[in-house]
Amino acid sequence: MDTLTLTASFFVLLIGLCFGSFLNVVVLRAFSGESISYPASKCPKCQKPLYWWHNIPLLSYLLLGGKCYFCKTHISWQYPIVEAVTAVLFVLSFLKFGMSAHLIFLWAVIFMSLVLAITDIKEHVVFLMHCLIFACIGLVYHAGATGIMALKGAELTWLHNPFTVSVLGMLLGGLIMLIYFGVSYILAGGRMAMGDGDIYIAMALGACFGWEKIWIIIIMGFIIQAFITGVLFEYRLLEEKNYKLFGGILAVAILAAGYWYSNTAGLFENNAIYLLAYTIVLIGVAIYVCRQLFGKVLGSKTEGLAVPFGPALVLAGFVIMFFPALF
Ligand SMILES: [Zn+2]
Repeated sequence: MDTLTLTASFFVLLIGLCFGSFLNVVVLRAFSGESISYPASKCPKCQKPLYWWHNIPLLSYLLLGGKCYFCKTHISWQYPIVEAVTAVLFVLSFLKFGMSAHLIFLWAVIFMSLVLAITDIKEHVVFLMHCLIFACIGLVYHAGATGIMALKGAELTWLHNPFTVSVLGMLLGGLIMLIYFGVSYILAGGRMAMGDGDIYIAMALGACFGWEKIWIIIIMGFIIQAFITGVLFEYRLLEEKNYKLFGGILAVAILAAGYWYSNTAGLFENNAIYLLAYTIVLIGVAIYVCRQLFGKVLGSKTEGLAVPFGPALVLAGFVIMFFPALF
């Protein structure tokens, strides 16, 4: 990395930290219902307005030792984490895509994605206003891109110009989630199995990523959510000291990964005995786990794990954003 890129990256880091700090305010004020510009930042506990140096991203948290200057109440580690994550994503996108109008658009996408993910994780809430702003960012940017293409005299096909791709992405994202919403509603016996906020998140992501990518994002979102749910479920089993089921699920995961690896590496070819033995072991362990799981679900009084889908969708969006060549 040359000096110029390094210097620029440092400035992008500072910009990212400031936006991360602003992000915390947006999330906090969305919950409290206050305006984002007024009043000035204050301690949520003792309500004392903060001094200017209490608002420096990351640094103030360290200077204050993670406590309010006035009442010494512990400040949530969520604030510095959000600032750091925003800054890192800003720098990574700058290094990957370079300074351009596209980068500014990506920063807006990163910002709104994080807002949605944080409110969803913290309180299982998705604010319609956030989704609307997010969707508008996608629509306006792609309308602009289409306009510039038209001005340059590029030949615009109806289906493949950026604005149409964006509008159709929004509709497709909403449609897929609406179908999923309906199916899970019926399967859950008329109970809400998911929040309608996920529909709006998918629409906003669709407007930003377009119809060619939104369905990949949703599928990947399901996979990520299944993975997160699995990890959380295993963690709970450990807490409950249910080592049989914990070990069983871990064994199935490892065996399944091994099966996938053996298959792609061609280890099963011309080796019927290996394939047969592997399949029998895998199915055997899977049946054992299913029996254990069934017994647990029937005998348990604890409520199921409810993992919000929004963060998984947002994460899938980041994967598509940073590794577009893979899809
Ligand atoms: Zn305080």
